[in-house]
Amino acid sequence: MSRLPHESVDLFVQRRKNLGRKIQGSALILAAPPESIRNHDVHHPYRQSSSLYYLTGFEEPDSVLLFRPGMTPESVLFVRRKDSERETWDGFRYGPEAASQIFKIDQCYPIDEFEERTTEFLKGIDKLYYRQALHREMDETIQKILVKVSKSQGRTGLGLLPVYDAEDLIGELRLIKTEPEIINLRKACQISAETHMEVMRYIRPGMNEREIHGFILYQMMKKGAAREGYGSIVASGNNATTLHYVFNDQICKAGDLLLIDAGAEYNYYTGDITRSIPVSGHFTNEQAHLYEAVLKVQKTLIASLRPGLTFKELHEMGAQLLTDVMLELGLLEGRKNDIIEAQQHRRYYPHGIGHWLGMDVHDAGYYFIKGQPRSLEENMCFTIEPGLYIPAHDTKAPERYRGIGIRIEDNLRITRDGSENMTLLVPKEIAEIEKLMAH
Ligand code: MG
Ligand code: MG
Repeated sequence: MSRLPHESVDLFVQRRKNLGRKIQGSALILAAPPESIRNHDVHHPYRQSSSLYYLTGFEEPDSVLLFRPGMTPESVLFVRRKDSERETWDGFRYGPEAASQIFKIDQCYPIDEFEERTTEFLKGIDKLYYRQALHREMDETIQKILVKVSKSQGRTGLGLLPVYDAEDLIGELRLIKTEPEIINLRKACQISAETHMEVMRYIRPGMNEREIHGFILYQMMKKGAAREGYGSIVASGNNATTLHYVFNDQICKAGDLLLIDAGAEYNYYTGDITRSIPVSGHFTNEQAHLYEAVLKVQKTLIASLRPGLTFKELHEMGAQLLTDVMLELGLLEGRKNDIIEAQQHRRYYPHGIGHWLGMDVHDAGYYFIKGQPRSLEENMCFTIEPGLYIPAHDTKAPERYRGIGIRIEDNLRITRDGSENMTLLVPKEIAEIEKLMAH
């Protein structure tokens, strides 16, 4: 019995080659995150770290990649040993021999040999890339290895190998998507979009938010997703004014809006879509007022996308446009610039306009380089997600708007002269949403 990788292994070989050109003479260590306990002897479902998957395609826990570009062996993967008894309980594991062959890794060893072998492999290296403070036991092992490597060099006056951050390094590669990544991301976006459309047809007043969450998972997995890319938010009525609402256990009532923020993960890439829809199938006048205003801001921002614009400019445009809306609707009073200066707009719009999107929902990559805002480049992917959230208990807000939370979120890719909306499929015009919900 064996398992095949989800994607062509040559893809991962090519990524290591690209990375190798940047860090000749250095070594990189990427460790799989430890399994985490859910309760007693039950674990949370395991998911490989995005960067380790990005460079190997290998999905098992207790694995570590050591990469030394330009040296022999160049790629070394430490994995769990074959163990027929454990495999009877927990399922197939590759073991060193098959892992090396199937994943095209120069040498694979059992994970219990990591410390000893890595001490040898790090001799003669100028620096190490490793993300600290993710996994305490691994930090301690790395520290021990560095001390041993240093001692083995005799009296040279040199200290420990300098350690640089591995995730920053790989984040820069992950930020600009290649063709195979765009294909995966588009597929994740398509599954997410179709799921949101199924939900619009499905919901009825009186349903519990958790039933809708279950339906979302069912639709995503039926359409080929491995899992949700993050915990879905299914927030009806005033719950939608909690940004990362996690309970998903209240009844959806006629007359309330339902905010759904859900994205499917496909081949380790995730969509991230939010729609705010009326539980009964029809927006009230007040809801429509707020909704149209947020939608207009979202469309204006998307229309402005092009290479060269910075994310900071997008954030600022978002704050300006939403503050205009808040002034028009009577949510805030005063002069726009004073309000923004004092950050008062954050009362009803407390988050940023979006974030990088890819293997992680809040994907890797810098927004600023040496303090300077970074310009958008072709094949950077991100969300645009303006929102307004007016808590029910906010007595300063006009009463008719209290208890309404709205966010509209799409997934964009920068093209040579503009952008591609990868989640265009899901309706966001009021008439289109109401039409789909009537089915
Ligand atoms: Mg979202
Ligand atoms: Mg988002």
